[in-house]
Amino acid sequence: MLKKHALLVLLLLTAMTNIGFSQKRELALTIDDLPFVGESKNFHLNMIINAIKGNEVPATGFIIAREVTAQNLPVLRKFHDAGLGLGNHTLSHANLNKMGPEAYIHEIDAADKILSPVLTEPKYFRYPYLVMGVGQKKDKVMQYLLSKNYQVAPISIDSKDFIFNQLLLSVPQNERRNFLNVLKPCYLDFIWQQTLKAEEHNRSARKPDQAQILLIHANLLNAYVLPDIINLYKQNGFTFVTLESALKNGEEAPRPQTTQPKPNETISISTDPLMAWD
Ligand SMILES: [Zn+2]
Repeated sequence: MLKKHALLVLLLLTAMTNIGFSQKRELALTIDDLPFVGESKNFHLNMIINAIKGNEVPATGFIIAREVTAQNLPVLRKFHDAGLGLGNHTLSHANLNKMGPEAYIHEIDAADKILSPVLTEPKYFRYPYLVMGVGQKKDKVMQYLLSKNYQVAPISIDSKDFIFNQLLLSVPQNERRNFLNVLKPCYLDFIWQQTLKAEEHNRSARKPDQAQILLIHANLLNAYVLPDIINLYKQNGFTFVTLESALKNGEEAPRPQTTQPKPNETISISTDPLMAWD
């Protein structure tokens, strides 16, 4: 009798384990504020490209067109030639909360013209600060994006990396390597907690297999930590997918947080001065 029970428990555990493994875990990696946050450093953007290429993961970057120069254009081309996606992030990292729809549309259009040699298909647009506007303003911009064949690139996991990056930058240059050893585990743990929250959100929306879309930035921190971020997801059974695939596999694309704010996260998205790093 005991043996029978033990066998049943074993069978049940096996079944549960299988359920755990059968859950599809997919992630699209998106990198905002290309060419680079802060002082433009081709060296660090190259580190990011090498981490992506070396690990053979797809990724999509979003470029602030005004920041493109003759010096960094070759690195953006390298990003493009590596088969990675490149999208529009406006001309000057414009905030739709601070301007009218016409000025904002000009920002998108000017960026489109500058970026046309490197933009990939399908064309993606990511709203700076994830601010999509409301009412007529929102509709006007959205209609314009549609008329230019742009798809909006939402996010489901916000790494909030700008906070960790700012901590790193606040440390004198010769102490950064040691500080990074302390900062890295905290940052990775934060990303993982954000991921678990996003998965919980998918489960409660009855879309457990919906792919996640991670937002990070082209900054100093990620130049050094991106290989660990990729490892973190791979070790937890995630498969990296393109943004296109992530948006296709759900009936409804995940929305930027600003459109469906969680009660305690509403205003901080747009008013926190740190969001200037977004
Ligand atoms: Zn941005």
